[in-house]
Amino acid sequence: MKDTLRHKGLRNKLVLEIKNKGISDLKVLNAIQSIPRHLFMDSSFLDHAYQDKAFPISAGQTISQPYTVAFQTELLKISKGDKVLEVGTGSGYQTAVLCALGAIVYSIERQKELFKKTSLFLPKIGYYPKKLIFGDGYKGFENEAPYDSIIVTAGAPFIPKMLLSQLKINAKLIIPVGDKIQKMTVITRVSKEKFDKVEYGEFQFVPLLKEKN
Ligand code: SAH
Repeated sequence: MKDTLRHKGLRNKLVLEIKNKGISDLKVLNAIQSIPRHLFMDSSFLDHAYQDKAFPISAGQTISQPYTVAFQTELLKISKGDKVLEVGTGSGYQTAVLCALGAIVYSIERQKELFKKTSLFLPKIGYYPKKLIFGDGYKGFENEAPYDSIIVTAGAPFIPKMLLSQLKINAKLIIPVGDKIQKMTVITRVSKEKFDKVEYGEFQFVPLLKEKN
């Protein structure tokens, strides 16, 4: 598992590209700069790793487009030590970005194969989420709630109530909502019962699926 000067050069270009698309948070750009995305993909996709595109990983899932990862992460405004819940671990790339920003990360994945693969892989390249969970993201992870932020990285047909209830006051849930195309949606818990909603542009994610029986 190598990270060469060539890879770093390609990452510099990728960072410029997403900067030009509107990402300005330096901490987020630095995280993208520092994480060897090519290692999160099968070797046959090596040449694609530093294009600003989503790509297939195992179990019919995708590693999100770097711009999308940066966009969601920028909206979260993570501070070091924040307790963050991610739904949809997938390749672990977004998980690594959150770790690089100093978050204490809990991440849920419902595909056993991906859960196992990513659990072994992340520590190998120096990223240590607090806990990876094999389970159904619709339920969140009550044991460690409440969270400073929750990020969903699959397209949700609706906003799961359990996720809202696991937010601290003033914490944010960022979730792409919709069927084929999703609206990036940020929900802020302004008080115990009151939530504010802001919608951003359109994105396309693999679906947030109901738990397998
Ligand atoms: N954050 C990932 C994106 C992976 S794609 C990355 O950076 O690579 C979305 C992931 O959500 C897939 O791995 C899919 O298996 C997972 N997923 C779908 N429905 C889910 C659910 N209900 N609970 C947890 N994970 C889910």
